[in-house]
Amino acid sequence: MSLVLYNTLTRQKETFVPLHKNDVGLYTCGPTVYDFVHIGNLRAFVFDDLLRRYLAYRGYHVTHVMNITDVGHLVSEADTGEDKMEKGARREGKSAWEIAESYTNAFLEDSKALNLLAPDIMPRATAHIPDQIALIQRLEEKGYTYRTSDGVYFDTSRFPHYGRLGHLNIEGQSSDVRKRMGGEKRQPADFALWKFSPTGATRQMEWGSPWGKGFPGWHIECSAMSMRYLGETFDIHCGGVDHIPVHHTNEIAQSEAATGKPFVRTWCHNEFLLVDGGKMAKSLGNTYTLRDIIARGFSPMALRYLFLGAHYRSKLNFTWQALGDAGRALDSIVDLLRLLLDRSGESSESVGISRSLTERFTEALDDDLNTPEVLAAIHTAIAEIYRLEERHQPIDGRLLSAAFFDLDKVLGLNLAATTSTSPVLLPEAIRALVEARERARTAQDFATADQLRRELLRHGFTVDDTAEGPKVKRSSHQSD
Ligand SMILES: [Zn+2]
Repeated sequence: MSLVLYNTLTRQKETFVPLHKNDVGLYTCGPTVYDFVHIGNLRAFVFDDLLRRYLAYRGYHVTHVMNITDVGHLVSEADTGEDKMEKGARREGKSAWEIAESYTNAFLEDSKALNLLAPDIMPRATAHIPDQIALIQRLEEKGYTYRTSDGVYFDTSRFPHYGRLGHLNIEGQSSDVRKRMGGEKRQPADFALWKFSPTGATRQMEWGSPWGKGFPGWHIECSAMSMRYLGETFDIHCGGVDHIPVHHTNEIAQSEAATGKPFVRTWCHNEFLLVDGGKMAKSLGNTYTLRDIIARGFSPMALRYLFLGAHYRSKLNFTWQALGDAGRALDSIVDLLRLLLDRSGESSESVGISRSLTERFTEALDDDLNTPEVLAAIHTAIAEIYRLEERHQPIDGRLLSAAFFDLDKVLGLNLAATTSTSPVLLPEAIRALVEARERARTAQDFATADQLRRELLRHGFTVDDTAEGPKVKRSSHQSD
């Protein structure tokens, strides 16, 4: 059996074969660090992490590169509108550089809380301006660019396969569109490689270039940095489906135009996360962040479990109810693991359960990362183990828990740590509050820590800080 992945480029499932023997080059589009990432972004990052973990589980040597977009880009993908980073800076009364740094740190905290493995290389766009300029120069030498009064643009009419990834029909874009679009772009799909700083104004983030002072377009950083670290052709590039028509289409155009080689062999895209059945929007107040999840008493691992419950190429509907259900399902796995720690019989039934769990797991993930099937296999195994328990039959706890911990290398639900470090059987929500309070205390944010202690008390739990960490007890009375 081998790993099969759906390739957006060819619109079919393909057996995955790396370009170089056992080495896999994986590039995943990272966050734009002008605000907290929302749970829709987090779905993409959890998918990237799952793919990376499974490749490693399958024995591949993975080099995972994820960029940090810390250059100020424009709010709209059409190279118009306001600069995100400078907008964030105005909102918070800080500099664009401070905004980028503080939200990079926030993103790293979220990543840790969600148990995302750190990428091997995490290049920042601002630290790779010369690479981006060099790539634009290559395109210029080959005649793929033109200048307007506000920047250097990629001429999509010169690149014959433009739009192949998204099956875009750019010839259908009429001259009406061109008129409406205004400005000096030759084709509506043309995009900025370099934007000039406005005359008479100094931007907080700007650099000198052969074309004048300014800043790179958004798409160019991913081409420049992925090729720098993974080579001009590499194995897998991931991102959300929203990146197909513009960002990834433009990455392909500018990379292949510059090198004359195929850019990426397999493109993997995850579907959208909906909230309460609809789109997330700032105006609806439903662009939840991981902080919102934790503040409502849920564990980041419950969110991770919720994401795994849907196939990455299906839309997933986030509701607080669904998150609660995910947390309870996760609790049931942890409860089972605690039982297993207590059972040491030998039984052929245990061997059978363990074997079929591992087989179903590999089979499901080999089939384009079918995580819902994996979770189904896990709950089947749990039911079978409880049947043995009810009939007082021997259970090989060591063998079975090892099987679960092995799967968790890929699922990343932190099962081993959760099982061993919480002697009191705590609901997910309480565990998350205790963890959040510990983090606040470590950061010497005692106001937040106190607030979380009161919150725990409202749920009927007290917490004592001991040398070995927080000890949580059910309080005898509910307070408020
Ligand atoms: Zn990107």
